[in-house]
Amino acid sequence: MTSPAYIGRFAPSPSGPLHFGSLVAAVASYLDARSHDGKWWLRIEDIDEPRSVAGADVAILRTLSAHHLHWDGDVAYQSTQHGRYQGVVEGLIESQRAYFCQCTRKMIKAAGGAYQGTCRQRGLTAQGNAVRLLVDRPVTRFTDRIQGDVVISDAHALEDTIIKRRDGLYSYNLVVVLDDIHQGVTHIVRGFDLLSTTSAHLTLYQALGIAAPEYAHFPVAAMLPGHKLSKQNHARAIDDRTPLANLKRVLKFLTLWTPECDTIDTCEALITWAIKHWNCKKLPKKAEIIVDQHNRPY
Ligand code: GLU
Repeated sequence: MTSPAYIGRFAPSPSGPLHFGSLVAAVASYLDARSHDGKWWLRIEDIDEPRSVAGADVAILRTLSAHHLHWDGDVAYQSTQHGRYQGVVEGLIESQRAYFCQCTRKMIKAAGGAYQGTCRQRGLTAQGNAVRLLVDRPVTRFTDRIQGDVVISDAHALEDTIIKRRDGLYSYNLVVVLDDIHQGVTHIVRGFDLLSTTSAHLTLYQALGIAAPEYAHFPVAAMLPGHKLSKQNHARAIDDRTPLANLKRVLKFLTLWTPECDTIDTCEALITWAIKHWNCKKLPKKAEIIVDQHNRPY
């Protein structure tokens, strides 16, 4: 059996129900996968357990189903995968591609802002310390399917990435890469807010000797410049009772909507229409799109 050429995924953190911004991420990744006859996995990124909200995963699943966004296979949960993550962290430490670090955020800030590899040669032990990847040659350039050629120069994005935190939690940067590898993901479609983390992810792929997937970063929905919709700024939960109207708003945001959409009266038919008309290369090459309180682009 040959594996499909396209495996995509939607990987929400269960810090609350989906809001307009995260529904855009679900729809964009779904349409891209299905327009390539690809798989679409659903992975609940509950690695940061203190930030996970009980029941949010169930609400996310319900919202996806209500919008006719049906995933393949079983839902994956990061919180059940600690053993796999720990094995990789230990392997990287043993092969001296990762090391323990005792620096706090405050210390790093006082020393100038970005982490300078201070603990690389200190030979520290695990006790109370974080683990960082030793980054000699960060990958700073890649070609994004929407944004085109990207160069990442932000000093924070290029520093020795934390792979396990001082509190014992595995970092987002580590587990997102390990899970995408584990699930055979070939294409990642996600918001521009995650673009700068891509350097750390590509550097991890390089350290692990595994070919990286293709990336596409679409503009995020923001209420004001620099303020993407998020739970922190009280973005409203998606109303599952109005899925068709929600989907039409998402298609408008993604610049896919045409008057023909208003003649379509079921989610299923609208999704089928959108799969046919999807072309991620036509999305705006922008970091964000400002929307009003009804999630309509200004
Ligand atoms: N879990 C991340 C989030 O909800 C998304 C990770 C990704 O798509 O790479 O923001």
